[in-house]
Amino acid sequence: MDKFDDVLQKAKDMAETAYKKTGDAIDIGKQRVEIASLNGKISNLYEQLGRKAIEDLKETENEDVCLIINNIKSLEDKVEELKTNILNTKGKVVCPNCKKELDINTKFCSYCGAKVNE
Ligand SMILES: [Zn+2]
Repeated sequence: MDKFDDVLQKAKDMAETAYKKTGDAIDIGKQRVEIASLNGKISNLYEQLGRKAIEDLKETENEDVCLIINNIKSLEDKVEELKTNILNTKGKVVCPNCKKELDINTKFCSYCGAKVNE
């Protein structure tokens, strides 16, 4: 192999190495995206399982489970409180039937006709 061929071969090897590294980086990126997607699906399934378990449990004497359920309920209450605060600040109420936002002085929903309580 003369010098020129040698240089050419080295350049070829470097290009292949660079290509392989880029390919690996893309593969790693794709696999990380897939991991995140799968973890999201797993979290959703845990959530479904939790909701189902809470529905089925009704009453349990397991203190750990009671604590978690109570924590969820108090966080949900807080979310509802914040949503109501936002609506009040905007001068709006939510129709109890169709859940559309209405003016705070509305007596009957303009979408579904339901009576709106204040
Ligand atoms: Zn309505």
